[in-house]
Amino acid sequence: MDNLNLYHILGVAKNATADDIKKNYRKLAKEFHPDKNPNTADKFKEISFAYEVLSDPAKRRIYDRYGIRGLQEGAENGMGTSEFFTQWFGGINDGKVLIKLELTLEEIYTGGSKKRLQYKRQKLCDKCNGEGGPPQGRETCETCEGVGHRPAFTFMGMASFDVPCSSCDGRGFTIKESMRCKKCTGSGFMEEQMHRDIVVERGVPHMLKLPFAHEGHQLRNGEYGDLFVVIVQVEHPFFRRRHANLYMGDIEINLTEALCGYTYCFKHLNGRQVCMTTKPGEVLRHNNIKMMKGIGMPVFSKPEDHGDLFVQFKVKFPPDGFATPEQLATLETVLPPRVKIPAPAGAQHVEMTDYTPQPRLPDTDDEDEAHFNGVQCQTT
Ligand SMILES: [Zn+2]
Ligand SMILES: [Zn+2]
Repeated sequence: MDNLNLYHILGVAKNATADDIKKNYRKLAKEFHPDKNPNTADKFKEISFAYEVLSDPAKRRIYDRYGIRGLQEGAENGMGTSEFFTQWFGGINDGKVLIKLELTLEEIYTGGSKKRLQYKRQKLCDKCNGEGGPPQGRETCETCEGVGHRPAFTFMGMASFDVPCSSCDGRGFTIKESMRCKKCTGSGFMEEQMHRDIVVERGVPHMLKLPFAHEGHQLRNGEYGDLFVVIVQVEHPFFRRRHANLYMGDIEINLTEALCGYTYCFKHLNGRQVCMTTKPGEVLRHNNIKMMKGIGMPVFSKPEDHGDLFVQFKVKFPPDGFATPEQLATLETVLPPRVKIPAPAGAQHVEMTDYTPQPRLPDTDDEDEAHFNGVQCQTT
């Protein structure tokens, strides 16, 4: 099933546009619609599946990078895509329970906080021992005629497989209505309220899956599936995190701060105050990125080590007319000298006005901007 090529199914190239994908999907969906031809139901489902993936930019990206397996495992966001996959293919019931634990960056930085997660799991009914009713109440399941499973549709490039019959949950029989266990209404399962205590580890990565064996659903055979706690780091208003490194939002400084020295203080994630100061004589240039070594997040499972903190500076220039001609003359005595270019005799003097490039609209050729970019390239 890894070889499954969704682009081939829709008959489009890998770099096809959203429009191409939609157009081909419509054409194929019409051709293979089961209302027209009942024998093409599987083909129709393939086409619909391919379209659902390729028409969704997020799913298409996962598929491009990780293939079908990526969709199955939810490679990028842990949850969601695997549920999506289950919707299409039917899941193999292994009793897995997935719950998420949302943590702030502060909690991840300091670690040690205790969290209690509440969740529900299915468990065999304790009144009927999971039978759903007495043996004499059993009647053959009408949906699967007692087989307990039904074949899932065959998929291009992969063998067909069986999924449990949903009417009888794979047992092949149901319980006569009058004889059904009152507690579980004949299903054999009841709900159990559970909790799991977690101590937050310093530097725990976003999307980490923590496994807890046998804390998931109980299966018909009495065994328990596993519980997985997925760490989800909520966005921070001030810091962005990548592994153990932290990135601050841009800091805007004025020209005096850029030239004459600058200090910036902020509250770090554990509440301590941190100040950064330029060295004497150091100039902060526009778009300068500075690194503060060891001021980032604790490294997971090696929390005595820390990543780094990065910050980018934006220099704001003063407005037109900020100084008198006399003040400018004084300023000029300290700044690097100007290059004096004598105007050739008879030169035409032209006026310069501000120009802001317009955002380029799709399908239009903005010639002004093309020239502007061209000039930039030549002069830099
Ligand atoms: Zn019961
Ligand atoms: Zn059945």
